Amino acid sequence: MRSTPRPVRPPIEVRDSPIAGRGVFALRRLRRGMRVLEYTGERVTPAESVRRYDDERDESAHVLLFTVDRRTVIDGGVGGSDARFINHSCEPNCEALNLAGRIFICTLRTIQPGEELCYDYRLARTGPRTKEVEARYPCRCGAPGCRGTLLAPRRTRRG
Ligand SMILES: [Zn+2]
Repeated sequence: MRSTPRPVRPPIEVRDSPIAGRGVFALRRLRRGMRVLEYTGERVTPAESVRRYDDERDESAHVLLFTVDRRTVIDGGVGGSDARFINHSCEPNCEALNLAGRIFICTLRTIQPGEELCYDYRLARTGPRTKEVEARYPCRCGAPGCRGTLLAPRRTRRG
């Protein structure tokens, strides 16, 4: 297997998105299984991320934070790559892979030039899961199977 270093200039561009705010779009055809971008930024503790962003008031907080594990959250708002602009979709064309603690956005299928890249945020939140909590993280991805929220599916996939 060929090792794939981070591309010097990823074949993407950031511009306004029909989903939300800005988004990331393919500049050329992207092969399936390609590492497009690394999700970078300052690595902080979950407690520090909560201190920085108030999810209850600030709707944009969750789009800048990527939870790596129980001890680490990447704050894409501090020196982060363009990966922080990738929108959520319930039926995404990319996935976020955790490779030894580094997060890479990889394509799940062939992506055509001009297509918007997205992955399933699967936000995890502690505490009770109510309709009210779900409504705080609304999804407007427009996919037929949209679950209406950026939170992870209720069904646990542990096993
Ligand atoms: Zn959706």
